[in-house]
Amino acid sequence: METELDMMTGYPRSRAAAREAGQPYFFTGRPCKHGHRSLQSTARGECQECNRLRAAKTYYASLYSPEMNPNTFSDD
Ligand SMILES: [Zn+2]
Repeated sequence: METELDMMTGYPRSRAAAREAGQPYFFTGRPCKHGHRSLQSTARGECQECNRLRAAKTYYASLYSPEMNPNTFSDD
């Protein structure tokens, strides 16, 4: 019988299962729309790699921004 948890990661295999288990992340084993195979946030549905890349992009953009405005650092 197949378990609800992914064999490799130990995380739930679907967002619904993750919600039920109270897990902040899940792992479907399928690539996201950008081709990453990584954990996905239960709350946002975003893959961790996408999240990391987006955060890095924001960070580096801020480094080279002529106006280093801390107000541009918002959660979204
Ligand atoms: Zn991704």
